[in-house]
Amino acid sequence: MRYYSTNGKAPLATLEKAVVKGLAEDRGLYMPERIKPLPQAFFDNIQDMSLQEIAYQVADSFFGEDVDAESLRRIVYDTLSFVIPLVKVEEPIYSLELFHGPTLAFKDVGARFMARLLQYFLKKEGKGTVNVLVATSGDTGSAVANGFLGVEGIHVYVLYPKGKVSPIQECQFTTLGQNITAIEVDGVFDDCQALVKNAFMDEELNAKMQLTSANSINVARFLPQSFYYFHAYAQLKKKLKGEKVVCCVPSGNFGNICSALFGKRMGLPISRFIAANNANDIFYNYLQTGHYEPKPSVQTIANAMDVGDPSNFARILDLYGKSHEAICQDISGATYTDQQIAETMRKCLDETGYQLDPHGACGYRALQEGLKEGETGFFIETAHPAKFKQTVDEICGGDIAIPERLQAFMQGTKQSVSMSKDFADFKAFLIRQ
Ligand SMILES: *Cc1c(COP(=O)(O)O)cnc(C)c1O
Repeated sequence: MRYYSTNGKAPLATLEKAVVKGLAEDRGLYMPERIKPLPQAFFDNIQDMSLQEIAYQVADSFFGEDVDAESLRRIVYDTLSFVIPLVKVEEPIYSLELFHGPTLAFKDVGARFMARLLQYFLKKEGKGTVNVLVATSGDTGSAVANGFLGVEGIHVYVLYPKGKVSPIQECQFTTLGQNITAIEVDGVFDDCQALVKNAFMDEELNAKMQLTSANSINVARFLPQSFYYFHAYAQLKKKLKGEKVVCCVPSGNFGNICSALFGKRMGLPISRFIAANNANDIFYNYLQTGHYEPKPSVQTIANAMDVGDPSNFARILDLYGKSHEAICQDISGATYTDQQIAETMRKCLDETGYQLDPHGACGYRALQEGLKEGETGFFIETAHPAKFKQTVDEICGGDIAIPERLQAFMQGTKQSVSMSKDFADFKAFLIRQ
């Protein structure tokens, strides 16, 4: 399979090039040339298939031409070494819990898959060290750092905004050591993202070292996220009595919802989508007006969604032939203030006993407000509430238990490099490595 750039000015790339490069030469995002619909028999039997079996079928359709079957199967099964249950919150709203992986957030899926696929290509080609650069507003950093930890031939640099990620998030990528370097940037998430993008465009730097991205722009991170939408449907299918399925995704960089849209193109019977946002309402405004106007991100309690210029918007535009009308047919939006998020978390806990995290709360509320007669909805619970313990406890007045695998990170020592948001400083640092 070949991959084209959303900007249309770069040559077609192989999967290997798209994975290693991350971003196309023209700064566009790679898209697979074809999205193959899955056969009807797959959907007829999906309720009897395991997560791994489903994921392998979906993976085969994207990557089967480029990765041998045995290796691909191993990559998929190793990646999905944890459960992704669909849990009823209240009729007819379900939560797809994507927090049972090593760092308790959905990004574990894409990060673990990408680490394994990159390693597959490195082994096959006998390449030297590859440097993975990743900008994070919280959860990407921990998922990528843990997905790649100890993987030979790969060094990971995690850039994060100083003072803007929760202490629990921070310790998950600053305490690892080995092949992981954490860089604390004096700026906001968008500054971190700009540093990474500039590094990829810098000829001198690229001549000196092999750089790749592990942000959700990388096809090896974002395509595997489609696996769990099929798994959600498989779990829901038994419960449906003719209702239409609505899928709601708390969104920041829009990689997660974009993979769900790919699922729909492959035949997944989801009738429509809701992109739930916090106060960063760029996509919401686009849906209302047809104009995309990026702006600086604002800090919220759902901080993994504090994104002012969502990268994957380019993919959504491309997927729908740049038609605002077509996009609005499949996707609607919602935007919530911190106060509304807090209120939703309290109300949901009181009325249903279900503990939401601030991101999932946006998804839950958008379904509560947006579901129509004859629809059943599921939202993505994108992270475990204990990852935001301080916020969650303040809002809900409880003392939420920290899962063991999260406690283990908190016992480590923080190691990080301070960095300005000036690209020249970052470049000089990388060259010194
Ligand atoms: C990354 C993240 C999001 C946003 O996902 P995108 O793919 O960037 O839209 C939402 N919630 C949590 C907890 C996250 O870590």
